Amino acid sequence: MKHTITLIPGDGIGPEVSLATKRCIEAAGVDIKWEEFIAGEVAIKRFGTPLPDNIIDSVKKNKVAIKGPIVTPIGSGFRSVNVQLRHALDLYVCLRPVKSIEGVHTPYKNVDIVIVRENSEDLYLGVEFQEGTPECKKIIDTINSLSPKKVRPDSGISIKPISRFATTRIVKFAFEYAVKNNRKKVTAVHKANIMKHTDGLFLSIAREVAKEYAGRVEFNDAIVDNLSMQLVTRPQNFDVLVLPNLYGDIISDLCAGLIGGLGVAPGANIGDEIALFEPVHGSAPKYTGQNKVNPVAMILSGVMMLKYIGEEKAALKLERAVFDVIKAGKSVTYDLKKDRNDPAAVSTSAMADEIIRSMKA
Ligand code: NAD
Repeated sequence: MKHTITLIPGDGIGPEVSLATKRCIEAAGVDIKWEEFIAGEVAIKRFGTPLPDNIIDSVKKNKVAIKGPIVTPIGSGFRSVNVQLRHALDLYVCLRPVKSIEGVHTPYKNVDIVIVRENSEDLYLGVEFQEGTPECKKIIDTINSLSPKKVRPDSGISIKPISRFATTRIVKFAFEYAVKNNRKKVTAVHKANIMKHTDGLFLSIAREVAKEYAGRVEFNDAIVDNLSMQLVTRPQNFDVLVLPNLYGDIISDLCAGLIGGLGVAPGANIGDEIALFEPVHGSAPKYTGQNKVNPVAMILSGVMMLKYIGEEKAALKLERAVFDVIKAGKSVTYDLKKDRNDPAAVSTSAMADEIIRSMKA
């Protein structure tokens, strides 16, 4: 069956890892018509916007997309294209499996965690007020008139909404995922001891939803700072983690570190009808155009995509080839070598070549 899939290579290292991924997916024997779009900084130069409307239209039509990372300027410039896409397409789940891979050099063994990050609200909603503007002053005046705690007049403000609606659907997703994938435990992550009305709400809803799964899936909760400590000491104690947006972002990178780094951490953004697959890592600008970085995170995001579209056989074939090449340890990028300066490390495209060769062997 032929699939039509939207491909957004992104910027920075995005085009390099996207090309490697496209070649590997095609070599796995899946018939795909790609609808390819530029986004991010290159799109600004060409179209005056980082996210041209035809990208959203294409993803809505095809229902499946894969993208490379896109740079987000810090402090100024355009709003994150990644966040915009997730919001515009209501991709409310960010699913990031973190599983140890044989042959990757890391002190941690037998890590097998699934991160379920809420994608639609929290501090990422983008409701922000710049310090010194009349809008910001109005917000501060209103807060100071309503609250006994006073906000300093020279503050910038970012709003953190956590809703009953979004929390219920993300926690339900986490439990349903656990049931379908034979996982044993869901841990809700929060800072409810400090933020009683946002994280507190998240925790109380998680507890309510957990009751529906009692006897089938175990439930507990963890405060995010304590969780961070436990993850680096006993990651094997965790199974499925469900988190609000910001903690999910941070803990994703921490967990990627447990299994060898961002070069091997895949992900997906999922809504009720649409899914967009992308690696956890960003555009790593300092490596742009060097054909040097690890394509595995994006290739494994492609494996997740193949499973999602029902191409299970091709997915397993590609996944096997990736794991075999990593285990052999020869034709791998610098980050997978014991010594990151090992001159025997291969390029992004050469690692993809080896994965393709392994599938054919
Ligand atoms: P980053 O993930 O781009 O890179 C951090 C470091 O991780 C790199 O310097 C590199 O050492 C390593 N790394 C990342 N990807 C790798 C790979 N494939 N192989 C080997 N090593 C790899 O994080 P950053 O530097 O904080 O962010 C750069 C830009 O990317 C920022 O503008 C940020 O906003 C954006 N970003 C985009 C996304 C996305 O598109 N979904 C996600 C995260 C960050």
